[in-house]
Amino acid sequence: MLFVLRVVIAVVIFLAILVVGMAFLRGVSAGRPREHIDPEDVADLDVFFVCGECGTELQVTRLGEIQVPRHCGEPMQVVRRPRHQPA
Ligand SMILES: [Zn+2]
Repeated sequence: MLFVLRVVIAVVIFLAILVVGMAFLRGVSAGRPREHIDPEDVADLDVFFVCGECGTELQVTRLGEIQVPRHCGEPMQVVRRPRHQPA
């Protein structure tokens, strides 16, 4: 019976630490304001998101937070394509 009680106490302590730890981490991430990045004009850099599955290309003209979109269920490839002929 005493052993069971110890196990229960251990589990309770473990859960308490877990909850406090999670709350602490959440507080830290929430307390620090997320770094705001102003969208940058990158039209001149000729950056494209290319879908490796179907070949769809999206040109990136303004870049805010770097987050690669998905197409056909796969993350798109980031391709920098130097301009060969003047548009
Ligand atoms: Zn696709």
